[in-house]
Amino acid sequence: MVLKAGNLKPIPNTVDTLKSGSPEMVVNGIVTTMFATTAVIEQAVKLGANFIIAHEPTFFNHVDNKEMVPNNPVVKQKAELLARHNIAVWRCHDYIHSIKPDVVGYGFLKKTNWLQYYKPTDKYTITLPDATLQQMVQHLKQTLNIPHLRVVGDLNQQCRRVTLIPGAAGGLMQMTAAVADQPDVLVVGEVSEWETAEYFRDGNLQGRKMALIVLGHSYSEEPGMEYFVEWLQPKLPGIKITHIASGEPFKWV
Ligand SMILES: [Zn+2]
Repeated sequence: MVLKAGNLKPIPNTVDTLKSGSPEMVVNGIVTTMFATTAVIEQAVKLGANFIIAHEPTFFNHVDNKEMVPNNPVVKQKAELLARHNIAVWRCHDYIHSIKPDVVGYGFLKKTNWLQYYKPTDKYTITLPDATLQQMVQHLKQTLNIPHLRVVGDLNQQCRRVTLIPGAAGGLMQMTAAVADQPDVLVVGEVSEWETAEYFRDGNLQGRKMALIVLGHSYSEEPGMEYFVEWLQPKLPGIKITHIASGEPFKWV
């Protein structure tokens, strides 16, 4: 089960390790997803796929330490489910972001029809045709199939310069990009509410035109795991690869 495709160099101390299963297993089908949730695992079993490639952790912390909270019943039951069905889960986080161009970013731009505005030189920031924040929100909801998202800023504000940081990059990286690139709108997956969201709130209260769109972590990176099928399938022609969207954990009430 060695992934030789992509000419990737080994990344030291990577979190991209097997979370269940063993390297000797014979792969008979692959599922890509954001999170190997219990629902995703059950769907993989139905598909007869025994290898799940998940972008984010399986056991609820960055290094998938199953003992982070001792005697965790949810962790135990999930590990048992994987063992019972002999499913291997491999996290593909550091590697997928190291592919040039970043498969997650590329998948996002493809899904939002913004690939045409992307130049390999601009790492995060692209310039789009004029639109209001409201129109941009509608576009993102429609193309990414997002029922609800969160916004800080004026919905009538013009948005041309857009900085994209899918996932949960953290306040430091999000605010550094916002200061350095001066976008009209920063689009992220997830924020710490007390950091980036408050920064944008105060910026608006100071009269600045700066908007923040918070898509949800899964919604922001799932297009990357969907596009990963297209990237990987030609390299493994004998194995069926299917994308299953894990969706977001929240109910909106
Ligand atoms: Zn990511």
